[in-house]
Amino acid sequence: MYDTVIIGSGLSGLICASILSKEGEKVCIVEQHFKPGGSLQTFNRDGRIFDTGVHYVGGLENGQNLYNYFKYLDIMDSLKIRKLDENAFDKISFKDGIKEYPLAMGYDNFVEQLSSFFPRERENIAKYIEYIKNTIKAFPLYNLSIRGTEIPEEFFYQENAKKVIEGFTQDITLQNVLAGNNPLYAGVPSKTPIHVHALINDNFIQSSWRLVDGGSQIADALIENIGKYGCEIKAGSKVVKIVSEKREMKHIELENGEKVYGKRYISTMHPANMLDIMEEGSFNSTYTEKIYSLEDTMGIFGLYLTLKENSFKYRGSNYYHYADVDSWESERKRSYMFLTPAISKSDDYADSAIALSYMDFKEVERWKDTRYLKRGSEYLEFKQEREEILIEEISKKFPELKGSIEKVYSSTPLSFRDYVGARNGALYGALRDCNEPHKSFISPKTRIKNLYLSGQNIILHGILGVTIGAVLTCGSILGFEYLIDKIREKI
Ligand SMILES: Cc1cc2nc3c(=O)[nH]c(=O)nc-3n(C[C@H](O)[C@H](O)[C@H](O)COP(=O)(O)OP(=O)(O)OC[C@H]3O[C@@H](n4cnc5c(N)ncnc54)[C@H](O)[C@@H]3O)c2cc1C
Repeated sequence: MYDTVIIGSGLSGLICASILSKEGEKVCIVEQHFKPGGSLQTFNRDGRIFDTGVHYVGGLENGQNLYNYFKYLDIMDSLKIRKLDENAFDKISFKDGIKEYPLAMGYDNFVEQLSSFFPRERENIAKYIEYIKNTIKAFPLYNLSIRGTEIPEEFFYQENAKKVIEGFTQDITLQNVLAGNNPLYAGVPSKTPIHVHALINDNFIQSSWRLVDGGSQIADALIENIGKYGCEIKAGSKVVKIVSEKREMKHIELENGEKVYGKRYISTMHPANMLDIMEEGSFNSTYTEKIYSLEDTMGIFGLYLTLKENSFKYRGSNYYHYADVDSWESERKRSYMFLTPAISKSDDYADSAIALSYMDFKEVERWKDTRYLKRGSEYLEFKQEREEILIEEISKKFPELKGSIEKVYSSTPLSFRDYVGARNGALYGALRDCNEPHKSFISPKTRIKNLYLSGQNIILHGILGVTIGAVLTCGSILGFEYLIDKIREKI
């Protein structure tokens, strides 16, 4: 009998385990994959390290929000990080890609750098930045304020991100530059709420970092710490049944038939995947319908290139390129995000490169009943075609890339589905919709008194969003003020 049993060893599961272990609880994490870490995992191809889901992280400068959370979690000092280009952590380009518009770190610097491309828009860019600064103030856990840790009322009445951005300027290019990194939240023009855009952008404007040699170091550091507190991780243990009775959790059952018992349970799975393995009637029909009607975020096609030694320069920016002057809805196949991971063996050259481009699950649905490495030749041909299109497009911006490529690998939404259990291979779980904000708000508490939820579906995805979500979940267990006091004591 554990105090808390956590389903899933992604960032959310590991942070919840860390917080509760620090409080003296006996915690067990159950993970389906043989390796813990979820989207923090890296994978290795020909000696190169590729990230699954952490390409850059914001707010890690001493005193900033993620720094403070990671300090409390005792992992900040062990992370190897490298700052991106302060004047352009992201570069946005359109069509021929010649002009690269910078998104810069620091509020004033953001205005300064962008104004040099749009001199007549300086005032409007400054107003946009003021708006972002004001919006994030409504989120106490973002700012680690002790007051009002409940979800702010404003959360439910947010406006549409695209419309708000368009309100700052008539300049179409600038509108699309300001929304240029919207793949960070899989933006949908008619649905994405402005608070999602504001929280994520503000975090990166504070400061933006790469994790040197991959994001799995976050998982490794957390695993080492929770191990010291005696937390157990059962890897390679898929949960196939979640059993409750009269609104109280009884146990969970693993694929091998083993039952795991706890006084309390936290599920970090997609809530619909969780309902799939619960008895019908565990929740009332309103909740069940709400969860099953959650819309997925878009899926992604991932291109992973291994590069010849000292042939392609490391870039301190992420490149968001769009086939048209439309960062929301440009042709998917020819629009991409491109980056070079940071490696400890060189500051100047990259040994690999990654490009991500939207891919609807429907495009791979015909192979949905297949598994990794057994999807057949048609699937491989389908992937190869996408690889070639993408390499061709990226090479227009970086002509030296083609000659630097050693080997090409790729992934589709099916890979994410099978690797980290992403429902329908969705990039970031459930989509937030400003037209129906309550629908995509999932509380960490459930009607089953000892079952809690955490993970990217409850508040926000991303390293910061999931960290805040885990604090919210554990705050509902331990008491918010108590937990926030503990965090503040450490910073
Ligand atoms: C391609 C991509 C790029 C990204 N880039 C960035 C970035 O640059 N910066 C950033 O901040 N964020 C980024 N993100 C988002 C970020 O990685 C995620 O939001 C975050 O890691 C999710 O953490 P989680 O704990 O909610 O879920 P996960 O990491 O998905 O963890 C859930 C875990 O639950 C396990 N699980 C599921 N079902 C079961 C079961 N039945 N039994 C046992 N275990 C189960 C899974 O195997 C998994 O390990 C990216 C995501 C993707 C996909």
